[in-house]
Amino acid sequence: MSLQVLVSGAGIAGLTLAISLAKSGNSVILFDKSDEFHEIGAGIQQASNAMQIHAALGIDKQIESLSFEPESIDFYDLLTAKKLFSSDLLGAHKGRYGHKYLHIHRSDLHRTLLNEAKKYNVNIHLKSKVNSYVNTKTGVSTIINGKTFRGDVLIGADGIRSSVRKHLNGVEVPNYTGYSAWRGLVQTSKLPPNLIPRATNNWLGENKHIVCYYVKNGDYVNFVAVTKHDKWLEQDWKLEGSLSQMRDCFKDSDNRVQILLDNCHKCYLWGIFDIPPLDNWTDGHVTLIGDAAHPMMPFLAQGASVAIEDAWILTHYLNKYNKNIELGLKKYQEACLPKANLIQTYSKENANLYHMQPSIKKWVRDRKLSIATKFPSLLNHKFDKIFGSNVVSNYPIDFI
Ligand SMILES: Cc1cc2nc3c(=O)[nH]c(=O)nc-3n(C[C@H](O)[C@H](O)[C@H](O)COP(=O)(O)OP(=O)(O)OC[C@H]3O[C@@H](n4cnc5c(N)ncnc54)[C@H](O)[C@@H]3O)c2cc1C
Repeated sequence: MSLQVLVSGAGIAGLTLAISLAKSGNSVILFDKSDEFHEIGAGIQQASNAMQIHAALGIDKQIESLSFEPESIDFYDLLTAKKLFSSDLLGAHKGRYGHKYLHIHRSDLHRTLLNEAKKYNVNIHLKSKVNSYVNTKTGVSTIINGKTFRGDVLIGADGIRSSVRKHLNGVEVPNYTGYSAWRGLVQTSKLPPNLIPRATNNWLGENKHIVCYYVKNGDYVNFVAVTKHDKWLEQDWKLEGSLSQMRDCFKDSDNRVQILLDNCHKCYLWGIFDIPPLDNWTDGHVTLIGDAAHPMMPFLAQGASVAIEDAWILTHYLNKYNKNIELGLKKYQEACLPKANLIQTYSKENANLYHMQPSIKKWVRDRKLSIATKFPSLLNHKFDKIFGSNVVSNYPIDFI
């Protein structure tokens, strides 16, 4: 039996869900409140837990052709440039987890997913905000732009400010975490040759850090420069940032960071928000995935990857329990909620490690990173839980 599925939000989570549902024989209507799809400059890291699903959906080669594969992940002290940690990624990630670790520009990933969804006849409605829903005896309905849509199930993939979540459990306002991030892109050809190592590069400082890596086959360097600000005073959570403020904030940094930021000509400032981990995502024939269910601080670069896992596992359970949707959604939540909450916690722990202040705490930071470099197996326990989930084989989906 094929299902009629309503999905609110055509971000990475909503599109991945729409593809896997449509490819396995369901009919999907996808609503997004935006007038058009556009994405300001930002990179995104895709670890093996996301890449295994892209491979199962048959889009991994396209994604790889638009990406950059880092050689290692490295951490430096922001002021002294001393290397604090290094771990191989090129061979090691695929060797251990079966898939590559890639850097991609978000719009390249989004476009690939969108084209694939269109190929499988996902019905996409723009300028269509989902505000609320009604659970009925046999399904769910929602009114959008004055028109009623009915489905067997409604999925809130509508991001951190989810309206579906607000209707479902009243959790509306995300908390400002005390961190904000400047994000930008710099053309590689404008930088001195080999200035930026071919790695996932992290510089850690007092109450600030910066991550940078190549995207678009190495043609651009993407950066995220995070600082602590007590308050987020703006109405909007994403603004065009001030280049001079950003450069000033990093003016005493490793020379490579300063040269990178000097060559950036447009940056955006994001307030970083979250909500406390939820213990329920589901109400009757409605559930949440991605940031709507578990927004996380970006310090493990896992938000989108976990959203992609949600989409796969939800498809598995909707197909398996298509005659008992409530049970299917319950099984989905049981499978996904604990891991999402764990990664939310890990991401928060990294926020503390990355921003330690001088003196004893910084000494502790350097010791932790140096021990982790010498004994990589110490980290495997943690990272196996994140990257090593065999979601595709544990939750099979039959494509038609
Ligand atoms: C600085 C930063 C760096 C990051 N880096 C990484 C990284 O390297 N790797 C990684 O995996 N993750 C990263 N993340 C996290 C990642 O961006 C998110 O987890 C991911 O985008 C969530 O996808 P989503 O589809 O759930 O939500 P979103 O991408 O927010 O998409 C939600 C969609 O829903 C639509 N929408 C919203 N409300 C409604 C409504 N009421 N009705 C209809 N449509 C609606 C929106 O227009 C949007 O298209 C980072 C985040 C930040 C802030």
